[in-house]
Amino acid sequence: MQRTYKFRLYPAKEEQENIHFALERCRLLYNRLLAERIAAYKQTGQSLTYYEQKATLPERKKYIPELKNVHSQVLQHVVERLDKAYQTFFRRIKTGEKAGFPRFKPESRYNSFTYPQSGFSIEGKHLRLSKIGDVRIRLHRQPQGNIKTCTIMVKNGKYYACFSCEVENVPLPASEKQIGIDLGILRLAVTSDGERIESPQFLRKSEDKLKQKQRAVSKKKRGSNRRRKAVRELARLHEKVANQRKDYAHQVSRKLVNEYGLFAFEDLNIQRMVKNHHLAKSIADSGWNGLVQFVTYKAESAGRQVVQVNPYRTSQRCSNCGEIVPKSLAVRVHQCSCGYTADRDENAAINILNLALKNI
Ligand SMILES: [Zn+2]
Repeated sequence: MQRTYKFRLYPAKEEQENIHFALERCRLLYNRLLAERIAAYKQTGQSLTYYEQKATLPERKKYIPELKNVHSQVLQHVVERLDKAYQTFFRRIKTGEKAGFPRFKPESRYNSFTYPQSGFSIEGKHLRLSKIGDVRIRLHRQPQGNIKTCTIMVKNGKYYACFSCEVENVPLPASEKQIGIDLGILRLAVTSDGERIESPQFLRKSEDKLKQKQRAVSKKKRGSNRRRKAVRELARLHEKVANQRKDYAHQVSRKLVNEYGLFAFEDLNIQRMVKNHHLAKSIADSGWNGLVQFVTYKAESAGRQVVQVNPYRTSQRCSNCGEIVPKSLAVRVHQCSCGYTADRDENAAINILNLALKNI
């Protein structure tokens, strides 16, 4: 199984220059190779192959000494990229899909290059890149599995490294354990086993900042420079929060899927229709989405079951006797005349699980 990890890079000035140099050299090479394929086809009716083009690289370096300042495998990968673009084009034509012929790349459309095998290594807080230098990297999590390729990307003036890793698909032992999960605003979720899944502190802080920035944007005058700046900052923060959420959802979902064999969630589509739409809710919503999505795909690939149920009255119904016990959002404890008392969300989570078991 392939898995991709993306990390932010903080190259110093010289490393930035080296990255842009490599990028530009790769782009020019790409366009040159494309031109040669087109010319060859016009002359002979035959395009050039990947191997034919790859074999020209040593010769090119003689005429364009600058190419020696780019890692040789990075250049080889440019040949591969063009070949893939061709393959995609012909595959689409075969299947009758819309197909665009491979195009020449302007600077704005060429923003990455790849080390397909070697020439890169993670050394503590740095990523060592051949012909570029030691670039500071923010490893917010350790890549799992065998790192196959490393792609350096520049996007909106920011630098990233994407590692594509080969992870072994370890089959999980079967589990009889079942769990209902109630998604909340104060806490990300509470389970039918009574476990609370909080949003981590750093994520909370980022979400608070997100709210501030959103307010800042709405206060500024439309069309003003200050508003544009605020919008840009908001977009940047959105991206950061989205990444943090994703990482957290990965961790939580992995833990859950390792342990349980059946998962019951509220159906988020129904949830969205019934509950009101304020800001806190819309922020919580993206957290829920991530959790449900990640649990679902991990569960499915491990042969575990996920059931979504209609959340109607799951927080009002007593999970012990079935009685409806009305309570406002402020009431955090479910207390029933049958004698059953539980955390409001835990009671809801048990109802969600019971509904799921009824439905399967
Ligand atoms: Zn009861």
